[in-house]
Amino acid sequence: RANKSTHGIFLPHLVASLVQVEQTYIMVKPDGVQRGLVGEIISRFERKGFKLTGLKLFQCPKELAEEHYKDLKSKSFYPTLIDYITSGPVVWEGVGVVASARKLIGSTNPLQAEPGTIRGDLAVQTGRNVVHGSDSPENGKRETGRSGSIPDIVFLKHCFSCSALWFKEGELCEWTPAQAPWLME
Ligand code: ADP
Repeated sequence: RANKSTHGIFLPHLVASLVQVEQTYIMVKPDGVQRGLVGEIISRFERKGFKLTGLKLFQCPKELAEEHYKDLKSKSFYPTLIDYITSGPVVWEGVGVVASARKLIGSTNPLQAEPGTIRGDLAVQTGRNVVHGSDSPENGKRETGRSGSIPDIVFLKHCFSCSALWFKEGELCEWTPAQAPWLME
């Protein structure tokens, strides 16, 4: 396979890397923080093998919560949802992480979530479902400010511009976990 890059041209194997590496935004919601579930939830993502690239604990301003959930503005539960969201968010990075994280989290309604999932094991009510996970790679980018992690490819740099809802530029880390070759061949 060719590994030379030509300015402006996406070589097939580079495109494959670009679409596979995603960022997702995982938020431990206020009930998860109050109930002491932060470690449990982070632990499930660590044990799965995903790489933590950013983590912070802070009180979510109302304007940020409204922007994050703007697609749900017409829903009857929207005002209570905005009141509910003040939490410690975390970001995870890995191959196919968006869809995989949604499976680890489970259905929105914890009573319908499978046993073994975070919501299936740890929650009972939709309005107190302990965790958020980006629902698409596009929203993963919108919420974390990144869409991938191949920063040395100069002509793709514009794809990595940071204008995230939850993280500012410089708040995410670039690092290689020692276990990476034991997780992926
Ligand atoms: P998910 O968090 O699984 O992506 P949605 O994007 O549909 O689910 O909804 C966002 C959040 O809004 C839910 O996680 C939950 O906290 C809240 N929510 C959704 N539906 C309801 C509902 N019927 N009643 C109360 N809260 C709800």
